[in-house]
Amino acid sequence: MDFKEHLTIVENFPKEGISFIDITTLMQNGEAYYAAIEELTQFAKEKEADVIIGPEARGFVVGCPIAYSLKKGFVPVRKKGKLPREVISVDYGLEYGKDSLTIHRDSIKKGQRVLIADDLLATGGTIEATIKMVEELGGEVAGIAFLVELDYLNGRDRLKGYDIFSLTHYQ
Ligand code: IMP
Repeated sequence: MDFKEHLTIVENFPKEGISFIDITTLMQNGEAYYAAIEELTQFAKEKEADVIIGPEARGFVVGCPIAYSLKKGFVPVRKKGKLPREVISVDYGLEYGKDSLTIHRDSIKKGQRVLIADDLLATGGTIEATIKMVEELGGEVAGIAFLVELDYLNGRDRLKGYDIFSLTHYQ
């Protein structure tokens, strides 16, 4: 399937000069969404993932169906102040200032193979922060799966040494 046919490029969103890749048009097509998740699930299976983790909110759209399909658990990565129990957190850089991501301290066990899922790899900042938390808890990053990778932002360089699979690429 040509997944790009189901993605929509929105120019100048959320601000002037940005080409935003809108995945909602893929999600709203049942056949395309199913086929995309199937491919990422196959990657997660090959990597022998014990648990799937994904950052809010679009990481849930990608990660949860993979976890469901493999009968594995799903761990949500959330902005600070959203998770109710003891968390670990990591600061990550945004274009202006910084923010924190959090996960529950008991969400990943030492030695577990963790598959990270998100909709899109841009600069890699979100996933770099996610990797830090997984490794702090003793998890092993088995692989990282995306629907879309923006090659021109070189996020892959920031995630050197990790096994990355992206369904589609934009140069
Ligand atoms: P990064 O941390 O710079 O790699 O940015 C990736 C995060 O920003 C992902 O969680 C995406 O949801 C979001 N993002 C950045 N650019 C786009 C885009 O063009 N379309 C959809 N999401 C985007």
